[in-house]
Formats: sequence, structure tokens, C-alpha cells
Amino acid sequence: MRLNKTVLLFVAGLMTFFTVATASAAIRTVTSRGKSYVTLPNLAAYYAMTISQPARNRVCMQNRFNRIEFETESRSVWINGTLIALSEPVQKLGWQWAIDATDFNKTIEPVARPAEFLKGVGTRTVVLDPGHGGDDKGTSSPRNVHEKLVVLDVAKRVKAKLEARGINVELTRENDRTVDLDARDRKAAALRADLFVSIHANSAANRSVRGAETFVLALPGRYSSNSYGGGRLPTDTNAGNRYDTANMALGYRLQQNILRATGQEDRGVKRARFEVLRDAPCPAALVEMAFMSNLKDEAIAIDPAGRDRIALGIANGIAAYVADVSRARVK
Ligand SMILES: [Zn+2]
Repeated sequence: MRLNKTVLLFVAGLMTFFTVATASAAIRTVTSRGKSYVTLPNLAAYYAMTISQPARNRVCMQNRFNRIEFETESRSVWINGTLIALSEPVQKLGWQWAIDATDFNKTIEPVARPAEFLKGVGTRTVVLDPGHGGDDKGTSSPRNVHEKLVVLDVAKRVKAKLEARGINVELTRENDRTVDLDARDRKAAALRADLFVSIHANSAANRSVRGAETFVLALPGRYSSNSYGGGRLPTDTNAGNRYDTANMALGYRLQQNILRATGQEDRGVKRARFEVLRDAPCPAALVEMAFMSNLKDEAIAIDPAGRDRIALGIANGIAAYVADVSRARVK
């Protein structure tokens, strides 16, 4: 959004300011045309970060703990090097770059300060959901390896790694059988899941597309990452939206640790309205571990050592989230 001087004066007239809880400086939410924003200089002051513009389309802020890099007029933000999709683009508000206030509250904050947002969240039972199964093969690779088998094997490896660390893990399916989508969330609820991770492998018509991505539930009143700007703005609020901040904290830890363990291309933490995320009875994320349609990614997904690296990344991500929750409890 580019504003000329006349529009700017008009916008300034509509702006109202109010203060929310502070970390370092106060956040002053700026309201323009009925929407709330946080400016990037204000965000940097709030986190006690230094701010710079290292390239024409980049705004960077950092302190001893975190580095946040925004791409201007884009929904891409990298927090400590991991890509996360904002719900709305970074845009010019008057003379300053700004982000949607909901992106500040529900995307940036739970990643930058997880201990503040994970109080009262449980960690006793992890439910892993290997996608597809039985009649539903999921996607298939060029060498005809089925997603349903790859994700089940990876889920079992994650379970073994987490159990070795004393974390209780259940699966929505233990073998190659059909499980309906709604039955997966019902099973998680029956098992009293404290967190839910659905495990999938991806596919694209363009075979050069590869990498790992992690999805969390789209925010109420905001587009999903892959349907941005298309059709009417969604207005539905889903059961899983009760856990918006924990969802993002979990999704970030998963994506960060999968990349560390596998060295895969980073396709980011994105938002979607997948059924298993909409109705999740607890904080939830869905991992797309690799593209079965890409030869390099397929090699990782077929190779037992490759699957083990992916499983290690998912297990480390869950363990990092559990550690974040523990820190929130003692805070
Ligand atoms: Zn799938």
C-alpha cells in the first residue's frame, strides 16, 4: 500500500493510539481504516532490538536473543532464520513499515516470547497422526512409493525417539489402515492429547519444487497462506483457534528443527484450514516433510537414514516446544 501526501493526512486523522502490555517499550497499535497495525520501529523498540534496512526490500531487527527479518510488501518474515508466513503483507503506513496487529499478537509474539504464551498448556500426551492409510494412499513418488507408508514409518521413528526422552506418545494409526479425517481429532481428544502433530509428504505438478513446510491453523478473519486474496475473506472461527498462539509456537519449533536435522529447503511455517487443524482438541500442527514429486526429496523420504533425520527433526521440534512450555510454567 503506497500512500500519497493527501491520503497520508487523511489516514493520520483516522489513527488512534492505545497501549498494551510491554516488554521493553510500549506497543502502540495504530488504527487505519478500521484495521490495526504495529509499526516496525515500534516493534523493534518493544523487543529492545536495533533496526536496520540492509536492502531496499528488507527490514531487519535484532538483539542478543532473536533476529527478525521482514521482507517489505510481502508476507515473508524470517525469525532466527526460519521462514514464517504472515497473514497480511508488511506495508507502508504513512512513512513507516507496519504489520497487521493480529500478525504481531498471533505470529511474531508466540515465536519471540513463547514463555509468555504457553502458560496452562499441557505436555503429558503427544498424539502423532500419520496421514492417509489403507485405501487412501496419499501422494506417490516417481518410483511409486506411497505417502501413507513413508509417514507411518517416520511417525513410528518419532515416537521411539520421544519415548526415549520420557515423553508419552500415541499414534492415530499403528498400521496401514483407513482412518477418516474427523476420527483423527476424535481419537486425539479421547487420548487427552496435549499436542497433536499430523505427518504428511507433499506433491507438486512442478517437479523442481522441494523442501519442508509446516502448517498451523489460519487465523479467524484472515486468509490461509495458499489462498491469499482469493474469494471472500474467511469469517469462520474454528475450535482449533482457541490455541492460536500455542499452534504457532509449536509450528515454529517443528519447522526450525526439521531444517536443522535435514538441511532441507525452507518453505516456511504457513497457515491453512485443514480439517485436522480446524477441529484439533489441543495445540496442533501439520508437517509436510518433503515433496514426493521431487527426485532429491524423494531420495530422502525413501532412504531409512533420510527418514530418520526427518523423524529426529520432528522429535527435536516437539521436545523444544515441551521445553518452552516448561519455561512458561516456572516463569
Ligand atoms: Zn498427505
